[in-house]
Formats: sequence, structure tokens, C-alpha cells
Amino acid sequence: MPFEQTIRTAVECTGVGLHSGAPVRMRILPAVAGTGVVFRRVDLDDFEVEANGRNVAKVSYATSLMKKGVLISTTEHLLSAFIGVGLDNAIVELDNLEVPILDGSASPIVNLVMRAGLRQQRRRRHYLRIRREVEIREGDKFIAVYPSDTYSVSYAINFPHPLIGQETLEVDLTSGDYTREIAPARTFGSLQDEQALRNMGLIRGASEQNVIVLTPDGIKNPPLRFPNEFVRHKVLDLIGDLALIGHQLLGKVVADRAGHAMHTALVQRILKDSSLWELTTGEADSSPTDALPSIAELA
Ligand SMILES: [Zn+2]
Repeated sequence: MPFEQTIRTAVECTGVGLHSGAPVRMRILPAVAGTGVVFRRVDLDDFEVEANGRNVAKVSYATSLMKKGVLISTTEHLLSAFIGVGLDNAIVELDNLEVPILDGSASPIVNLVMRAGLRQQRRRRHYLRIRREVEIREGDKFIAVYPSDTYSVSYAINFPHPLIGQETLEVDLTSGDYTREIAPARTFGSLQDEQALRNMGLIRGASEQNVIVLTPDGIKNPPLRFPNEFVRHKVLDLIGDLALIGHQLLGKVVADRAGHAMHTALVQRILKDSSLWELTTGEADSSPTDALPSIAELA
């Protein structure tokens, strides 16, 4: 059974935040087993914010974490990449409040991590295995997770746009398809919303280099990387948001027209009720008490 992994050496990149437009330098550093992912604001006396459901802040166009008033914005693409490549433990240093958007997908992060390489650690990875289903419905939006021995996602979207319409995608994340099938899919937004969002200060860092810009009948910056790049990006976001559970998941996630708010609502629902899941290393001889500190940490 798998052991936890960290990054072999520190890596760094620079970019801008999608929402803040702020320039930011990011370093990903190795961390000891059991750490999980911890953000560190080097511009605020190294204040640390753990990537877990307890620190989820406001969720509108992106997922943000907040602890004692310190914000870490737009965590989902980075955390998605970490789940996708199997990176369990890392310190992520930022010198500003937002993770850089890079090209709008998770591929630059995947490439950064894979170039440094992963190092296997001594602690067995603890998976959060869903034991009972959880379903959340809000109008025509839906998200649920069901028991399964693997981690899979089924996502449906329905956008009134000639290039999108109805798209559905099913991905088994245990099969290792993440890097090729999900990571390259980019953020998207519509031209109609652009001015309003800019005025609200929500997309100060957006450009044609990091967002697929939808026009009324096509896209402003072709080509798409996949014909169904939109639903692939929703899967990418979902994986990144569910990473806030703090463990790799064993469950089948089904989402229909959901978004960051519903993704993180599912995280909260799961973490609030420990009868819905168990932590497992997959080893028959693993002791359940071994997992208790993590449960307390998450609740
Ligand atoms: Zn996204």
C-alpha cells in the first residue's frame, strides 16, 4: 500500500493572482510526514494556514482559506495538482495573498512538482474512505459522494453557450489519468461577465493567457486544449476543493452544475460527521487508533 510523499527539493515560480492581480512568488518546500499542505505567508511573519476544511473562507469565484484574518486565495488548482500527482506533504510559501494563476490550469504546478520529483516517506498514506452516502441538493444543483474502493468523479455541466451546452465527464483518479486528462484544462469566463467582474475587482489578474474567454458564439483565444475542456476544468476544481478534506478520498463523487460553494459544502458535511467515513491505510493490520489524531485535527 502507498506511503505518503513529499517533494524532493524546493521549487519556485512567480505569477499573478487571478482575482487580486497581485504579483506573487511561490515556493513549494518538502514537509515531514503527517504535515499535509500548509500555506505560509512569508510577507506576514511566516504565518501559516493549513489547507483544511476548518479554514475555508468565502467561496465565490474561487476557494479561499482564512485563519485569524490571514487570507490565502484561490487554492483549488494547486491543491488539485497535489492530489493528482500524489503529493501529500508540502509547505507552500507565498509572498502575497493569492496563489498564482499561471496558465489557468494545473499543468504548470504538476510540471514543477514532477521536475523536482517526489520522495516517499515512512508513514502510510491514510485515505478517507466514504462509508455512507452524502447528498446535497440546491435547486437544480447537486453534489454527492458514495462509497467506493477508488476515487472517481462524475461531473455534469449545462452552460447556455454554443461551445458548451451539456458536458459530462467521468474520471477514475486512481488510474493515473489526472496529469494528461485533467491538469491541462483551463479556467474559463465569459466576455459578458468580464466587465462586471473587473469592476468588482474579482478578476484583476485575468488575461487571455490564463482564462478561456467565451464570446457569445465562440472563444476569443482559441484553440481549446480539449473539445470538453470546460467540464474537465470543473473536475479539476472539484478535486482541488475536496482536497480540503485533508486526505486522499476513496469514494465516488457525482456533481451536477455544482461550483466552489457546493464543493466546499460537501467537504464541511463530511468533516462534521465522522460516522460517514473512516480513515484507512488499506492494510488489514492497521490500527484504527493510529488515525485518531487526524480525525481530531479535521473536525
Ligand atoms: Zn478553476
